[in-house]
Amino acid sequence: MKHKTLKGLQDILPPDISIWQNIENNARQIFKNYGYREIRLPIIESTDIFIRSIGETSDIVEKEMYTFQDKGGRSVTLRPEGTASFVRAYVEHHLYNEPAPQKYYYMGPMFRYERPQAFRYRQFYQIGVEAMGILDPKLDAEVIAMLSAILDSIGLKELNFEITSIGCGKCRPGYTTALKEFLSTRKSKFCADCQRRYDLNPLRILDCKVPSCIDSRHGSPPVIEFLCDECQKHFEILKQNLDLLLVPYSVNPNLVRGLDYYTKTAFEVSSESLGSQKAVAAGGRYDNMVDEFGGPPTPGIGFAIGMERIIPLIKDSANKVEGPDLFICPMGNEAAEKGLLLTEQLRAKGLWVEINFDGTSLKSQMRKANRIGAKKVIVLGEDELKTKKVKIKDMNNREEIDIILDVNEFVKVIQG
Ligand code: ATP
Ligand code: MG
Repeated sequence: MKHKTLKGLQDILPPDISIWQNIENNARQIFKNYGYREIRLPIIESTDIFIRSIGETSDIVEKEMYTFQDKGGRSVTLRPEGTASFVRAYVEHHLYNEPAPQKYYYMGPMFRYERPQAFRYRQFYQIGVEAMGILDPKLDAEVIAMLSAILDSIGLKELNFEITSIGCGKCRPGYTTALKEFLSTRKSKFCADCQRRYDLNPLRILDCKVPSCIDSRHGSPPVIEFLCDECQKHFEILKQNLDLLLVPYSVNPNLVRGLDYYTKTAFEVSSESLGSQKAVAAGGRYDNMVDEFGGPPTPGIGFAIGMERIIPLIKDSANKVEGPDLFICPMGNEAAEKGLLLTEQLRAKGLWVEINFDGTSLKSQMRKANRIGAKKVIVLGEDELKTKKVKIKDMNNREEIDIILDVNEFVKVIQG
């Protein structure tokens, strides 16, 4: 019987894993400079946490959640995104008592039961951030600038930054009325989901992927034309500050997010080279969520980067094999033992050292050293053990130098 990963899931293997780690390390360094601290959250939560925040009529909640009953009869869900879990933790641990803005980041897997396609998985990884407690649009600009810095640091080029404002509780009702009015004559052409959404949550119709719904909502008024004074001003100041920070962006009045909790600022970064799954990162403000989770009213803003969407964009440039600092080819039993000890001692000095185990010919050992990308190689035989001298070969330029068989000598030569 053959076992395979479930549909829409994938194993991430070396050498790809080093590309993942590079991205994660770059992001961590940038988070440090912007004052973000890591938070690790469970990947499974009580289902109501997601329903309440993401929204009952969203695609995620209606179709995509991995929800099941645990042995205690509770309804639990594998997290489809990070913000809801974060806000649950934020309220549970009273993190709002720390000086604002409280800034956190997370990295980890998310789960959505979607139709698998290129760059769309059922388990996918996000790097996400949340900045809490500040309503000032300068923070929105800083968050978007940080996203730009991260994508820049991993060498991503030709990305489109799109921003919009989707208003707040004050301007939303007026907009909803106008939207319903526009959609009322087209209602019969909507899919069954959107028929329901028309009464429950008409904004969700704007996010529906069904072609007939996309057609019939064409030309609907954008929310950006219905902003209240406060949201309008917030958006203006955001744009001014993005200009100040030299973040290139465009305003896309038709940008809609798939989650209900957003208020005011929403944004998305995309790359044309990904085809139809082109969003590499997305985020926005959520000023009502903490309140709804039972905490003191606290504004928040965040984004998430989709790892599987950025890896293919840099894969070609980053695909070189990283091999050990030293590969030891022992000839004979005594050399194999002495070599093993030397390997251990050099590793304790911080070097990556490998020793050959299978006692094959020197030729095949050298071939292996080449295949694994070893930077330097030594042959350890009876002579070398007797004279306590060894030739160390540089695999790049093929040069050999004589050194004394001594741990500190090796460290000196290898570290240059
Ligand atoms: P999309 O429009 O592509 O479905 P989304 O709006 O559902 O994206 P968000 O919930 O905003 O996505 O998540 C942020 C990022 O996570 C996306 O921009 C994308 O890069 C990534 N992402 C979302 N869903 C998937 C998935 N199923 N597989 C891989 N990456 C994903
Ligand atoms: Mg989606």
